[in-house]
Amino acid sequence: MIGGIPAAPGIAIGKAYIYRNKEIAYREGPLDDSEIQNQLLLLTDAMRSSVDQLHAIVDEASKAGDGTKAQIMETHLAILDDVSFTDEMKAGIMHEHMFAETAVRKVSEKYEAVFAEMDDEYMRGRAADIADICLRVIKNIIGVPVNAMGEVHEPCVLIARDLTPSDTAQLDKDLILAFCTEQGGSTSHSAIIAKARGIPAVMGLKDIATRLADGDTVIVDGYQGHAHINPDAETLDTYLRLKAEDTKRKETLDRNKHLPPETRDGHRVTLLANIGSVEDGSAALENGAKGVGLFRTEFIYMGRDTLPTEDEQFAIYKTVAGMMNPYPVSIRTLDIGGDKSTPCINIPHEDNPFLGWRAIRISLSEKDMFKTQIRAILRASAYGNIRIMYPMIAEMTELRKANDILRECKEELKADHIDYDADIEAGVMIETPAAAVAADILMKEATFFSIGTNDLTQYVMAADRMNERVSYLCDPLSPSVLRLIKHAIDESHKENAPICMCGEMAGDPKMTSILVGLGLDELSMSASSIPSVNDAIRKLSFEEVQALAIKALTMDTAEDIAGLLAASHYSDAKPSRY
Ligand code: PEP
Ligand code: MG
Repeated sequence: MIGGIPAAPGIAIGKAYIYRNKEIAYREGPLDDSEIQNQLLLLTDAMRSSVDQLHAIVDEASKAGDGTKAQIMETHLAILDDVSFTDEMKAGIMHEHMFAETAVRKVSEKYEAVFAEMDDEYMRGRAADIADICLRVIKNIIGVPVNAMGEVHEPCVLIARDLTPSDTAQLDKDLILAFCTEQGGSTSHSAIIAKARGIPAVMGLKDIATRLADGDTVIVDGYQGHAHINPDAETLDTYLRLKAEDTKRKETLDRNKHLPPETRDGHRVTLLANIGSVEDGSAALENGAKGVGLFRTEFIYMGRDTLPTEDEQFAIYKTVAGMMNPYPVSIRTLDIGGDKSTPCINIPHEDNPFLGWRAIRISLSEKDMFKTQIRAILRASAYGNIRIMYPMIAEMTELRKANDILRECKEELKADHIDYDADIEAGVMIETPAAAVAADILMKEATFFSIGTNDLTQYVMAADRMNERVSYLCDPLSPSVLRLIKHAIDESHKENAPICMCGEMAGDPKMTSILVGLGLDELSMSASSIPSVNDAIRKLSFEEVQALAIKALTMDTAEDIAGLLAASHYSDAKPSRY
């Protein structure tokens, strides 16, 4: 067995296909003057073909409801659209007399190095996107097939040193049972696409591409992050059984996904989806979501050089509001900063970006940008049931400032006779310890709360959510985190306001009993988690899980609480890992 990083859940057993990206023969210069025009034309044609290919992938992905894939390919289109990027390639041909493919490679290497040096993990990950786009252009210049997977004709497990996001986006789901790579991590774009497309994947498997030969049998365990090469009969039997169980479980969940999320004794919880695009909204409805609990609007701002306009944002929010109507859509205002950045907002280098200029802090200091977003959200509120949600609020003053800007935007729209929902709700994300402790204060001017456990946990435990070494502390079952969750719920209920949780904890069926027992009214999660959380809720007794939550709150450690949940009969709710 080789251990790696679980990148996308699921189990697959199949024959290995080792993917070797074909070596490109780069022609050496210098070019004759007479050849320059020709090479410039080749570059322009290859750019155009690349844009057409990417548009086709985006269209196909949008039709298939694959929002994540479409979004990543849109990012690639935005990079190709950058004039200075192409100008540098042209300069390589004109001034340095390089062949077109060599000029593209030079520019690619330069920007890959720039991104790879960046402190921000997200930006470092973009080096792979640059390499991917440039390789597409190079292949189009020299006329080799862009999709090297064309050689795969039978179902197999794909083994590669690395897979670019567009390689992953183009994998044929009927042929690629799973994939294993040496490079990449669970937040790489390839991992995100694999998860969204339901292809099990394990990354970070040392030397896997050289340890295997074509035709070897491989078991890929995307839950545990394991690969078994040419397994013995006993391991194979075990995995055949686990795989059969996994398939059966998914079929049952799929059949029951539209049943009401109600405990055996009739307590109803509302299940909502976390989305990042219009396409994700369709997946939410298909999986039984009764609205959107978190629209991560930063994805609209990412991968582009210019800020999205009011009309552009209005169109997106209006579409989501319309498709979800009458269900609610909580649109979170921009949460950029921390591990998320975009070329269209200049965030100067910070030593502690998670503690720095992030989310509402940026919005409040960039008032015009914030007003553009608020006006777009308000205009869309005339077309559905929209709520506004502010991220990373740490004190009442920030909430007041945000609400003042909201009022100002309402007045402007009113003066211009533009429709909006005058009673639109404005809520606060409880994701800083300061907000959780001051929940009673914030409740005076917020109409609802949504608990972001991903950040709340990292800030309460003072443990970076991206740092593997301190991940043992990033446990939302920690008594300190649970007490704050309980406090926010109690303060919210005192004012009869509903309270939601939209951090990853909400989508983990192992946590469902305690979350329902603590009294959360709404749970918001990625669309694919809704069926298993629904199933978990339907097995609960509200009375029993209330007692379970009270008991959990008396315990000393996260391990003790996890033990309590595992020992209770609710733990048969299959978690994301078995
Ligand atoms: C959270 O912090 O729990 C949350 C939902 O926000 P994000 O993961 O986008 O920071
Ligand atoms: Mg957060």
